[in-house]
Amino acid sequence: MTNLAPKLTHEQYENNFAELKPAFTKNQATVEANRCLYCFDSPCMKVCPTHIDISTFIKKIATENVKGSAKTILESNWIALTCAKACPVDVLCEGACVYNERGEKPIEIGRLQRYAIDWYFEHGMPKLFTPAPKNGKSVGIIGGGPAGLSCAAECALLGFDVTIYEAKENAGGLDLWGIAPYKVTREDALNEVKLVESFGVKIKTNTQIGKDISITELEKKHDAIFIGVGLSKNVDLKIPGEELKGVVHALEFIEKVTTRKWSSVDLGKHVAVIGAGNTAIDAATEAKRLGANEVAIIYRRSENEMPAYDFEFELAKKDGVVFLFQTAPTKIIGNNGFVESMECLKMKLSEPDESGRRKPEPIPNSEFTIPVDMVIKSVGYEVNDHFISQIQNLKLTKGNISVNSETMQTSNPKYFAGGDCTSGGREVVNAAAEGKRAARGIEKMIFNR
Ligand code: SF4
Repeated sequence: MTNLAPKLTHEQYENNFAELKPAFTKNQATVEANRCLYCFDSPCMKVCPTHIDISTFIKKIATENVKGSAKTILESNWIALTCAKACPVDVLCEGACVYNERGEKPIEIGRLQRYAIDWYFEHGMPKLFTPAPKNGKSVGIIGGGPAGLSCAAECALLGFDVTIYEAKENAGGLDLWGIAPYKVTREDALNEVKLVESFGVKIKTNTQIGKDISITELEKKHDAIFIGVGLSKNVDLKIPGEELKGVVHALEFIEKVTTRKWSSVDLGKHVAVIGAGNTAIDAATEAKRLGANEVAIIYRRSENEMPAYDFEFELAKKDGVVFLFQTAPTKIIGNNGFVESMECLKMKLSEPDESGRRKPEPIPNSEFTIPVDMVIKSVGYEVNDHFISQIQNLKLTKGNISVNSETMQTSNPKYFAGGDCTSGGREVVNAAAEGKRAARGIEKMIFNR
């Protein structure tokens, strides 16, 4: 497929993909930090999965101790910049801020966190942490995404010798290639990788487990292994026409957009995005911002069951994305091998199913066809199990790796896991918290402390 959508100028692309929430100036950050009430037992800290001491880091910004603020943040979260920019703060820390109860604007915790961590990277990562003396044990980390990086940083500071095995050419995972560039930039994600490397963590990129290094070799080399491979296998629609040119997976599309080579991203004029999770919304919004004439989200349930966050939904609507609820695709129709249209069916909702959401059922004879030249699939992701099946006694539940939620240890005691491959898909901040928890679990397993 080639780019069928109208080309924009470079300035238009850059403008469309400019950060949604620009950085605070020093003055703005100080004013906002001074609004904080420094609540005792602060609710904002309790809801954060990494439990950052929010009132303390904000107080340090107010007293112009930005380096100290960064230290407070990083002590709890090694993926703090991505989290500051990509966390659903409305439903986490800012949603819990006491100002909401007063009917006033909550403290902009995300932007303040970003202010402190931007300062830290802009000042060349001044030394804030010293790894413990080497403890003679080694940890292998499969996957250099947020969970893996977080586990690696924590293990290195505990004195372990740590190696990350990353299949792609750069570590960073979804933070690097799966988040819309108007939220997080590649530079942000790569800075976080550099921070983890600064603790002595080795990163072997372009290294696939089971192909470039075997499970046996890995087990021989390391005393414990952490799996943080995310969900990289795309779920297909299983309808006729999926093989046509112009049908892509959302993460493939988003990955191309994150490179910021705008005109090299294949894009249709009339785009249908199947699914209504946050990734689907990202893909739809990005397609619109790249210049597609029409973008429609096709979702088989109603707005009430939609998994995407409200603010993502509002952003997509503001960008002109159209939502076709209670609609399911049944066939993608092509011409000369390229997508030309899509047949859909209207759905009605019956009783809730096992997921608790009302079950969609087709309405007979409700078929209709919409003209589309690109279809972006975003109906789910699974653990890519090419090596998982080679690990002995590794238990999976509904396709996700089962773990003890306190230690993140799997059913095979040598293995720990965290992030989307265990949760089925949550936030970066959950992955950051689980990676850190796993490091403590590894320490407990090896040294019983
Ligand atoms: Fe500050 Fe709001 Fe947290 Fe209270 S709840 S410490 S006001 S950010």
